[in-house]
Amino acid sequence: MNATHEVTNQPPPLAGYNAWTGDRVLVAAARRADAGWIEPEATGMGELVGSERMRLLADQANRYGPALKTHDRFGHRIDAVEFHPAYHELMGLAFGTGLHSIAWTSRHPGAFAARAAMNYVWNQGEQGISCPVTMTFAGVQVLRHAPALAAEWEPKLTARSYDPRPLPIAKKTGATIVMAKTEKQGGSDLRSNSTLAVRDGDSFLLTGHKWFCSAPMCDDFLALARLDDRVTCFLVPRSLPDGSRNPFYLQRLKDKIGNRSNASSELEFRDTRAWLVGPEGKGIATLIEMAHLTRFDIVVATAGMMRAGLTLALHHCEHRAAFGAKLIEHAAMQNVLADLALESEAATLTAFRLAQAFDRGASEPNERLLARIMTPLAKYWLCKRNPVFTVEAMECLGGTGFVEDGPFGRLFRESPLNGIWEGSGNVICLDVLRSVEREPESLSALMREIAAAAPENAQLKAMLGRLEREFRDRANLESRARRLVEMAATALQASLMLRHADPRAADAFCASRLGGDWGHVLGTLPAGTDCRALAERLRLQ
Ligand SMILES: Cc1cc2nc3c(=O)[nH]c(=O)nc-3n(C[C@H](O)[C@H](O)[C@H](O)COP(=O)(O)OP(=O)(O)OC[C@H]3O[C@@H](n4cnc5c(N)ncnc54)[C@H](O)[C@@H]3O)c2cc1C
Repeated sequence: MNATHEVTNQPPPLAGYNAWTGDRVLVAAARRADAGWIEPEATGMGELVGSERMRLLADQANRYGPALKTHDRFGHRIDAVEFHPAYHELMGLAFGTGLHSIAWTSRHPGAFAARAAMNYVWNQGEQGISCPVTMTFAGVQVLRHAPALAAEWEPKLTARSYDPRPLPIAKKTGATIVMAKTEKQGGSDLRSNSTLAVRDGDSFLLTGHKWFCSAPMCDDFLALARLDDRVTCFLVPRSLPDGSRNPFYLQRLKDKIGNRSNASSELEFRDTRAWLVGPEGKGIATLIEMAHLTRFDIVVATAGMMRAGLTLALHHCEHRAAFGAKLIEHAAMQNVLADLALESEAATLTAFRLAQAFDRGASEPNERLLARIMTPLAKYWLCKRNPVFTVEAMECLGGTGFVEDGPFGRLFRESPLNGIWEGSGNVICLDVLRSVEREPESLSALMREIAAAAPENAQLKAMLGRLEREFRDRANLESRARRLVEMAATALQASLMLRHADPRAADAFCASRLGGDWGHVLGTLPAGTDCRALAERLRLQ
């Protein structure tokens, strides 16, 4: 038996690497965005994400997903979700490093970019936890519309502590917050929300259903409900100040295609106690602020996921041989890896330029405008590229890529999700148009950003002229929305590549993505491209 079971030509496990220090493109992007100071913490995160421990935790938390417990053994409603210990450990690791709060707690410049660096690395290891992390990060901003609530909640929401106990906020060491807005009849069109709010003394009582509510073991839901028939935002705590359970009812957990470590529920409010957040009747506008931040996080997370796929593909092809040579030495494979490398680098540069715009936007109007338009633009484009990218990276591993033992199953199933939630593709493209319509200067900010590299490259110069014409043409804008956004996003990435990537990579990006010397799938870079060198550049050090 033993003699036949000789294992040869299998790559060593990808473990014991550092996803931060080993990634030159990432470190340079973060430094450029004023986030160099996060290096000690990012190094720790990079080591964790490259460790066998992280691989095991991510595998277990997703393999043994959450289970709904509606009642205790005596028949009382508890509406709780039980998780595998690996989930709690991951939550402890994420919240313990301030993954959710660095942007709010740090006094350094580049705090958004520093958080982006940590988030980029984290998302290479596990994605389900990112949901409560991102919601808690973004929820802080929304709660500031209710200063009295913020005074009580913000210190707990930004604490480096994971405290899953269902206790009143005063007794918690750390807290999480999520969003309950989507209802059965409408997720994109939140004007259709039917949950009702009625005044009850200083607070309110909500009654209605929510069709999707993720991470329902949080301490606080930001919920939309109609108050005097106008959609309004409320804070709904899990536990009331006197320690009693705020009555809400988890109906079931979604049996999701991916994102399995994260619980997503259907829930009902029935006379559930709530407090007002933001102006009455302005609930959608209030939560859109949150969506702006969650979309930013999605851009960063998606770039991180693409990096994870690329790292796996490069590692495999370096070690696996076929037809007498390592896979990475075969010209056809080099073209695939090089194309993946270009796509990943462009995604990374996009994410960190966006983070920089968020940081600088606080004091520079042009950067605020850029962040406004670039957030949906980048969310749309990276989320569209990621599933295509992931499938191609998975194929580099051959059959092994399609087996659940490895992380590709998770990356693959996760890959469409960021494109769906927090604004699906069309809605996001329409948001880019809305930005142009309401703040035309945001388009100027975007054009200036693209133009920063245009003199260096004829293809980009030509694309800039085309974009200006296309945006001036007001006919059939909605129907042309995806095309416009795709063109602008690609031009922006080309500009970033020309300014920050190796000239060979930038030229190959422009020739393929702008010049049309490209096929319909990845791995079709023009003949004469130094594909081996382009792939090697992105190899972890
Ligand atoms: C795993 C998961 C977790 C989630 N967690 C949460 C959560 O925690 N809290 C929460 O509130 N929600 C959550 N959601 C819901 C999510 O935000 C919604 O599914 C999303 O906003 C889309 O809404 P919908 O499903 O109602 O689709 P619809 O709004 O019906 O949209 C369907 C399609 O139509 C398109 N469309 C909509 N309007 C237009 C238009 N004007 N023109 C052209 N096309 C249009 C959309 O782009 C989409 O492709 C979650 C969803 C998933 C999958």
